[in-house]
Amino acid sequence: MSSFSVRVNGELVVERGDDDPNPVRHLRSFLSSDRFELQINIDRPDPQFIGMALFARVLELAGSLDEAIETLNGHTYVRPGTKFVSIAEELRIDNFYTGPHSLTLAPREMANYSRPQSGSREPNKPLYFLWGLFPLDLEMAVTPVDMTPLPAGSLVTVGSSFLGAPPAGVVSLEASWLFEGVVGAVFLQDEIDTLRQEYLDFGASSGPPFKGPFVPKRSDVVHSVGTLNTGNYRVQLDSSLAGHRDGVIAAYRGRQVVDVNGNAVTFNDHTVTIPEDATVTITSAYRNPRRNVAVGSQNPLGSRHVWGAALDLVPDFTTGVAADGSTVDLEEFEHIYPTLRDAALTQGFAFREDKHGKNIDKGESTLNPDHVHLQWT
Ligand SMILES: [Zn+2]
Repeated sequence: MSSFSVRVNGELVVERGDDDPNPVRHLRSFLSSDRFELQINIDRPDPQFIGMALFARVLELAGSLDEAIETLNGHTYVRPGTKFVSIAEELRIDNFYTGPHSLTLAPREMANYSRPQSGSREPNKPLYFLWGLFPLDLEMAVTPVDMTPLPAGSLVTVGSSFLGAPPAGVVSLEASWLFEGVVGAVFLQDEIDTLRQEYLDFGASSGPPFKGPFVPKRSDVVHSVGTLNTGNYRVQLDSSLAGHRDGVIAAYRGRQVVDVNGNAVTFNDHTVTIPEDATVTITSAYRNPRRNVAVGSQNPLGSRHVWGAALDLVPDFTTGVAADGSTVDLEEFEHIYPTLRDAALTQGFAFREDKHGKNIDKGESTLNPDHVHLQWT
């Protein structure tokens, strides 16, 4: 029989023989910085097999895949004439002849290859690998049609049923492979890893030595926190966003109104306060790195929004309340914004920001504020 195994960072994650009646594709959490090792053992006396070929396919990986593959053991048993064929992002290594051979391959750190860092308001497609070992006289075509993100720990069971309807809500692959004698495996990033991959793509570290930001752990990624996810995914980072929002609003309501110079606003010698039912709109909270670029950030990982530790606050229009109960007209930029900024300062570092991201409080801009930016550590 022939067998096929994959190790990720030294850990055995797939071990398959071609006599397995119901191949299971093991999906595993991974990033492109992980080290994949493929072990192939072929011992097929069956004369119908003139040879075997290894198939690996990586989507969403710019650069040439054959450059990303290196032999590990230095003495492969591949016969002379073996071809490493890179067609777009697909690699085929042909001519493993029948007999006891082994070969170990590993992608180099694919984080070195170009990955998208442009601004985007759409989620990245997940990275995925298809590993296959199949007879040379068969053609194989696998076309992904729907890369619906998978929940963590999902298993896709395939086999002859793979040619029919895929498991509901998992992933659709239009496939004409899995002929008898084919062994393989699929690794597909779920939504959590697809988001974590963005941090790696933007230069965060995935392992020691940690210099600067590092890739969030899987346990750091949570489902969307209400409206406080202004990123591209259904998952996000959250460093107490709701608590800080609620803290600002509590500090804002009933707060004494100040002007841009910090002086208390008075009306007929009465102090003026923000009404107890005043409201604030959150225009931005958590942003994933590509979304952060899309809104104009020059330093995507440096923004606290990317770490779930910043809010952009816009005060809804309100009148003031004088101590005698009378209503006082307030001016949006002269009164309401400075008062909201002071309320936000109770929750961290806050300033009025213009629509170009300039800090008005530091005198970087004479424009009107677009929002109050609040961040914390
Ligand atoms: Zn902001």
